[in-house]
Amino acid sequence: MKTTEVMDYHFINSDINSFVQDLNNRLANRLKTFIITANPEIIMYAGEDPEFRDVIHKADYIVPDGAGVVIASRILGTPLMERITGFDLMQEILKAAEKKGYSVYFLGAEPEVIEKAAGKIQGDFPQLNIAGYHHGYIEDDTELVNEIREKKPDIVFVGLGFPKQEQWINQHLKDFNHGLFMGVGGSYDVIAG
Ligand code: UDP
Repeated sequence: MKTTEVMDYHFINSDINSFVQDLNNRLANRLKTFIITANPEIIMYAGEDPEFRDVIHKADYIVPDGAGVVIASRILGTPLMERITGFDLMQEILKAAEKKGYSVYFLGAEPEVIEKAAGKIQGDFPQLNIAGYHHGYIEDDTELVNEIREKKPDIVFVGLGFPKQEQWINQHLKDFNHGLFMGVGGSYDVIAG
């Protein structure tokens, strides 16, 4: 996957379809994958918080989410191909997961929101294998991680808002044998409507 450095971060420089193809290859090979969709808000925040900056650098892919990042890349003379929003990327991954039979776990949001969002996603992707879901107001992190480990999902979408979701993924990646992990911010609220 081609990357281009913009403001000290190696962003993927790809269209969404090629990127999803790349992710499909990683899923097929059961490679652990950590995706961060970085908008200007996240980049600004990371500028003030070196620990969060290190978390971003640990991701396998930094996706340019937000027109600001793409505009900045042009001004700096290192243009990125296109903006890929976290929401669009999630939808494309769900589509691919349904087609290829990859199981998905949804973590985050209020209990009634995540339940409703999971139901809507199942309606949109009828053949999708939903391994499970859990709200994002975590009381017992160990219990939650064990539950997810037992269900062995291929893909885990984490909607705790940033920086919490990226910190959670960074902290727990070592606890899983495989899986694609991606922060999805407030996407569950949007999906639940
Ligand atoms: N959220 C959560 N657990 C928390 C904090 C937030 O699950 O401890 C959820 C919240 O319910 C919402 C999502 O994270 O669905 C995004 O929250 P917020 O609007 O604060 O973050 P942003 O969208 O700005 O990243």
